[in-house]
Amino acid sequence: MSQSSPLPLTHKAQVEVRQTRLLIDGKFCDSLSGKTFATIDPATEEVIAQVAEGDAEDIDLAVQAARKAFDSGPWHRMDARERGRRMLKWADLIEAHMEELAKLEVLDNGKPINEALGYDIPSAAATLRYFAGWADKIHGKTIPISGPFFTYTRREPVGVCGLIIPWNFPLAMAAWKLGPALATGCTAILKPAEQTPLTALRAGELALEAGIPPGVLNIVPGFGPTAGAALVQHPLVEKIAFTGEYKTAQTIKQATVNSMKRLSFELGGKSPNIIFNDANLEEAITGSFGAIFLNQGQNCCAGSRAFVQNNIYDEFVEQFAEKAAKRKLGDPFDPATEHGAQIDKAQFDKIMHYIALGKEQGAECVTGGERAFERGYFIQPTIFKEVNENMAIATDEIFGPVASVLRFKNINEVIEKANNTPFGLAAAVWTQDIDKANAVAAGVKAGTVWVNCYNIVDPAAPFGGFKLSGLGRELGEQALDAYTETKTVTVLRR
Ligand code: ADP
Repeated sequence: MSQSSPLPLTHKAQVEVRQTRLLIDGKFCDSLSGKTFATIDPATEEVIAQVAEGDAEDIDLAVQAARKAFDSGPWHRMDARERGRRMLKWADLIEAHMEELAKLEVLDNGKPINEALGYDIPSAAATLRYFAGWADKIHGKTIPISGPFFTYTRREPVGVCGLIIPWNFPLAMAAWKLGPALATGCTAILKPAEQTPLTALRAGELALEAGIPPGVLNIVPGFGPTAGAALVQHPLVEKIAFTGEYKTAQTIKQATVNSMKRLSFELGGKSPNIIFNDANLEEAITGSFGAIFLNQGQNCCAGSRAFVQNNIYDEFVEQFAEKAAKRKLGDPFDPATEHGAQIDKAQFDKIMHYIALGKEQGAECVTGGERAFERGYFIQPTIFKEVNENMAIATDEIFGPVASVLRFKNINEVIEKANNTPFGLAAAVWTQDIDKANAVAAGVKAGTVWVNCYNIVDPAAPFGGFKLSGLGRELGEQALDAYTETKTVTVLRR
């Protein structure tokens, strides 16, 4: 581990922060209260900028704008192909500003520049493009019912959508929701996470340039219990799409019991990553490594429970730990950096607490386990072995660079252990035996199962969770369901 790396210096000079204000009805504005909040660079702990702090009254303005844009604006009445064309233009503009947006993401989030350039920003553009393609392909059906009737269905946009997103992949998560929302003709109020508002605001400016009409996309940065809760409770909002902690989703679900707002949730996980003794070990180790350490472990589908078959357990752990010890931590703006900072002090403290619990409860920390550097929220990639199923590091979502390696004997036992969790977002299996792979894929309760790979997420493939990991699916054709209502029209044939 590169403990000798120089501490990150100030980053503010890396990129200009152009937008820090709310986007409502096509204009950037201060919050009505005039309040602002600081957004912090997790690598240096310095304030990057003050951002306008939206609260209930700003949410109300944004919802009114989205309502007007939906009820009387051009967006869902526009030729569907033209709607798609404007989304394509937005995707092009995001790509044309790739470096600027990637640097903003690094500054605000602390992730390595290579990941922001390699995944976050290109995948946001790809997701918008994929859904732009759907805009003119959202078909109803004709249905042969009994009697002298002609019946057909229309897929109509659900209406005004509140989109509440997390900080781990800020622009990519915005695109996962805005793609299907805009393609189906909905209008939106996006509330970025308070830790990472900057890329959404800049992308919002590009959306206006691309011809997304005023009021169709409104962006209100602010905090969860204020701006977020106001959006959830607003009577003119028809749908909430949320990504974050399952406990927040439960609060949202309770707050919408009476209004029955449409809900889609993408929540946390404790994903099992199963390595059989017939796997290609080198590939399994590389894949399992990315599974947990990508994005400093701040990944809802992180493979945080590695189940390794008994007779390869020691060899696996040894090579896994060697690889972790070599991972290059450092300044996220350095292209050589592989591992950046955790998002903020609260997450940093939570992760360190779990590391301490792991040690206390008797797991063996084979590498890492400490903070790295004196400044910035850096934590060493950490691997625990001899983890038992009941330890906190094996049951709780840590959302940090902490791998728990557990043992198993046979396939039935490992499927049972893999499912012994309230979560069900993702799973992976490493084996050269296709029958074993298929048996695990069928037996594991998870929305995504990877075979001999990990973290392969594509705009065309549905993504979401079983159990406490979510409700509905994002991405793929299925995402359109979350943003449309089906209307059945029956006509008497004379
Ligand atoms: P995390 O721990 O990843 O920050 P959260 O669920 O707390 O997960 O936050 C995810 C998003 O949900 C953020 O945009 C946050 O501001 C928002 N949020 C938090 N609490 C609420 C709430 N009570 N109502 C609506 N949104 C909320």
